Amino acid sequence: MNTIDWKNLPFGYFKTDYNVRCYYKNGQWGPLEVSESEMITMHMAATCLHYGQEAFEGMKAFTGADGKVRIFRMVENAKRMQRSAHGVMMAEVPIPLFEEAVLKAVKLNLKYVPPYGEGASLYIRPLLIGTGGEVGVKPAKEYMFMVFVGPVGPYFKEGFNPVKMQIVRDYDRAAPLGTGTIKVGGNYAASLLAGERAHHDGFSSCLFLDAREKKYIDEAGPANFFGIKGETYITPDSTSILPSITNKSLCELAVEMGMKVERRHIPVEELSEFDEAGACGTAAVISPICQIHDRDTNKIYQYCKDGKAGPVCTKLYERLKGIQQGLLPDTHGWNTMVE
Ligand SMILES: *Cc1c(COP(=O)(O)O)cnc(C)c1O
Repeated sequence: MNTIDWKNLPFGYFKTDYNVRCYYKNGQWGPLEVSESEMITMHMAATCLHYGQEAFEGMKAFTGADGKVRIFRMVENAKRMQRSAHGVMMAEVPIPLFEEAVLKAVKLNLKYVPPYGEGASLYIRPLLIGTGGEVGVKPAKEYMFMVFVGPVGPYFKEGFNPVKMQIVRDYDRAAPLGTGTIKVGGNYAASLLAGERAHHDGFSSCLFLDAREKKYIDEAGPANFFGIKGETYITPDSTSILPSITNKSLCELAVEMGMKVERRHIPVEELSEFDEAGACGTAAVISPICQIHDRDTNKIYQYCKDGKAGPVCTKLYERLKGIQQGLLPDTHGWNTMVE
């Protein structure tokens, strides 16, 4: 296993030895099963294929400076998957079952957890799908919950690199009272065209506005948005944003750093008043934003003009990474140790 080039791993699928699975049938969850197969078989009328009964999670395990493996805020992901399940009428995975499945998947693949200092981590992907066959539109009676894992490389190959974003008005990723607040595949499907166009135009991602009025900043592609104005951390309040656990953690760290935290509407014009801006999520923790381009007005909002991330983004990033890697005390009890 010393053949894995940890430093050059992409963020992508990586085959490991085992995954774990659990089936819901006759109103209850069965035992956890271990599988060596990358394949799943299901009924061709499964509701996940036809009616979008699907939810997923994304989380990470890290090897700390002390050699111990830590999983970051696992219970938050378990609770969020329950909310997602409720939102598309799937059987909820009990929190202890979620925790057991994640721990088992990590322990069975311990040799794939990148060592400390490589910048890499073990990405954990829990998945819940409706597997029961239905042709009429209704929730399935059978579900499958599974967890697979794989090592992923450092998000920023040359350190903490600021990115460019593109504001879009001709697509929405989620309706105002739709599924934007839950982690379901349909939101991603709805964001693909705008996201691919942004990549094609040279941006790392698109910035969606609120679907109703197109006045306020909503979601930054697959990540939450935040701005820094003086001593204040500002992040959108919206009925169509996925509640990022990274964002929630950064808000708590900002308060500890003596900053003010505001969750409120952010009018597009306010972008010109921010000292720093960023996108946050499990994949990168923080992607500092150097430029936001409004493709309708051609207006450009510029941050970190020297090409480097601003001081607040950098400090927040280092604090959160420090806790994940056991370099700073975990005063909130965010880490689960894998022993
Ligand atoms: C998963 C996700 C995020 C980030 O959430 P984290 O819990 O921080 O990883 C942000 N936005 C969307 C749309 C997501 O699906």
